Order: sequence, then C-alpha cells, then structure tokens
Amino acid sequence: MVTVVAFHAHPDDEVLLTGGTIARLAADGHRVIVVVACDGDVWAGPDQGRRLAELRASAAILGAGRVVHLGYADSGYGPVLFEDPPGRTRFARADIGEAAGKLAALLTEEHADLLLSYDPQGGYGHRDHVRVHQVGAQAAGLAGVRVVEATVPRELVARVARLLLVLRLLPRHRLDEMLGYGMPQSLITHRIDVRRHVAQKQAALAAHQTPVSGNGRSAKLFRLLVRSPLPVFRAVCGTEWFAEPGGRTGKLARGHAAVPDRQD
Ligand SMILES: [Zn+2]
Repeated sequence: MVTVVAFHAHPDDEVLLTGGTIARLAADGHRVIVVVACDGDVWAGPDQGRRLAELRASAAILGAGRVVHLGYADSGYGPVLFEDPPGRTRFARADIGEAAGKLAALLTEEHADLLLSYDPQGGYGHRDHVRVHQVGAQAAGLAGVRVVEATVPRELVARVARLLLVLRLLPRHRLDEMLGYGMPQSLITHRIDVRRHVAQKQAALAAHQTPVSGNGRSAKLFRLLVRSPLPVFRAVCGTEWFAEPGGRTGKLARGHAAVPDRQD
C-alpha cells in the first residue's frame, strides 16, 4: 500500500488528467489524496464553494480518501490577471515557497510515497497549471517525495487539435498554440491504461455540473465527453500519461504499468 497525493490546479483537472489513475490506485487499495490549489471560483459570487463541492463528489466517485484545498483563488485564463478577490490570493500571485511549504507539510503528514504534479508548462500553459508544476517540484524536494508529472503526448494533441478544427470546436488561431501542448512522446515515462476505470472517470466528470452546464466551447467539449457512449469515452480517455523528471520509469505503485505498453 502506498499513499499518493494528486496535486491539481482546479476542480475537474483531477478527472481529465489523472482520474483513471486515481481510480486504479484506489481500486488496488492505495490511499489517494486530491489536493487542489484553487477553489475554481474566478469571481467571489453567490456560488462560491460550489466547485469545491463538485470536486468532493468527483473525488468520492474515484475512490480518493481525502480532498484538500490549498486556499488559493483561480487566476483565470487569458491576458488579464484580475485583482485578488476579497480575502484570497490568486494562485498565479501566490508565493511559490509558501505554497510549496503547505503542500510539503501535507506530504509529510500523510507519509506520502508519491506526488502527482504537472509537466513544466502545466500541459497547456494556464498560469495556475504552470504554478502547480513549480510548487509541486519544490514541495517534493522539501518533503523528499518522488514526483511524476501528468502530461499529454504532443503528437496526439496535434492530431486531436486538427480533428477539433474540422468539427468546429476549435478556432483556427488556437491551433498553433495547441501544437505546443504537452510533452514529446520520447519524454513520457509512464503510460497508464485506465480503460477498466472509465465508467468512474466519466461519472466523476459528470459530477462537475458547473462546467457541464456552462456556455462556450470548453463547456461544449465537456458535455460531449460526459454524454458520449462509454466505448467512445474509453477510446478517448482510456490512457493517462506521466513524465518522471530524470526519465526514470519505475512503477507508480505495485501492479501499475511502469513503462509505455501501448503506442498512441
Ligand atoms: Zn485547470
């Protein structure tokens, strides 16, 4: 039995990037703790706290034993970094050492064996995701815990981006940006087969009602995933990828795929 801390930027990231891995680890009897840096509320409104409640529902479906919010506010996506909401700091403005200290304390308290964090650009460059990488790397160093970083194969993203363009789910100007997402296949050290856990992964995604019921392209994509038949969802979301700094390929936990076992 190992204890794994899955560190994420926002509610719903835990499903999309690591949901199947969390479910698989939990099903094998390991303890998983989901830590989220931001509460997911860009604005302090009447719905404050709703995203964290959705996260708790999602984590329960995946089998995680505990959910922790590091206390920061969502920095939002786009060129403008808005003022801090009352009483909270946007994660992009957070002091990296302070945030890493909080995460390291949790890793120590939980006797964690492994930290799941993000690749250097946080998959797709969102400022809060980049900060997760920075804070995760520093916290792992402070607590002396092994870290592996969630990512996506760049070559696969390029194929998906071109498909989304054809389906008119992606504006042309975003294509070039998407071609730089994730990491080259050659740097990916862990490729986790989560096909047996996709029903849980899809149900966990559906627990995030705020993005499911939202407007805009990302909400459309979210709904497409939540409503797709399970075989389709399995094909799209049945694999998760990690890169371990230094290129090591040891198993995440006993019984887990260590080295890439399928080709994308
Ligand atoms: Zn996010």
